[in-house]
Amino acid sequence: MKIICIGRNYAAHAAELNNPVNEDPVIFLKPETALITGRLPFFIPDFSQDVHHEIELVLRICKTGKRIEERFAHKYFDAVTVGIDFTARDLQLELKKKSLPWEISKGFDGSAAVGSFVSVNDLNPESLDFSLNINGITKQAGNSSMMIFPIRKIISYASEFFTLKIGDLIFTGTPAGVGPVKRNDVLEGFIGNQCLLKLKVK
Ligand code: MG
Repeated sequence: MKIICIGRNYAAHAAELNNPVNEDPVIFLKPETALITGRLPFFIPDFSQDVHHEIELVLRICKTGKRIEERFAHKYFDAVTVGIDFTARDLQLELKKKSLPWEISKGFDGSAAVGSFVSVNDLNPESLDFSLNINGITKQAGNSSMMIFPIRKIISYASEFFTLKIGDLIFTGTPAGVGPVKRNDVLEGFIGNQCLLKLKVK
């Protein structure tokens, strides 16, 4: 499986990192070894002094597809959750300065935490509140209706380049409020009031 991630998909977040808003979605991948599920902890890697949390709505792909038209995109995912796109911000800034790819700052082991999935049957994925608490305090909150590129566009655009396969995950971008995590932090991710992700930082 692969993990497809969208960058700069909320205007306020793009602005907080001084990034321009692009005409097309910004896409990058994380390898399968980035995935952490269940209640496993997140370990801060030795190579970074500034790992940031990015809470994101995550889609689970349920059908193989390539060049999917926007109007059919909803048929290709059956469940959503929240995930954390952990980012070694110090390393990413160095790489960006040199115009090099971000991969190692975004795709390192454990950098894709994913919560429990809920079926999309009972909800409207285009208008979902989601949030991140750290040690009980809300640090990030967003609604999927605020995406610059909506879910149907993300699925259509990504599938021009990458065939989507069952079990692939799509991280759809983070709202404003990103910041560093530190050892012993407890991170909780919510859709609405439902806690779907909980992990400790080590
Ligand atoms: Mg992100």
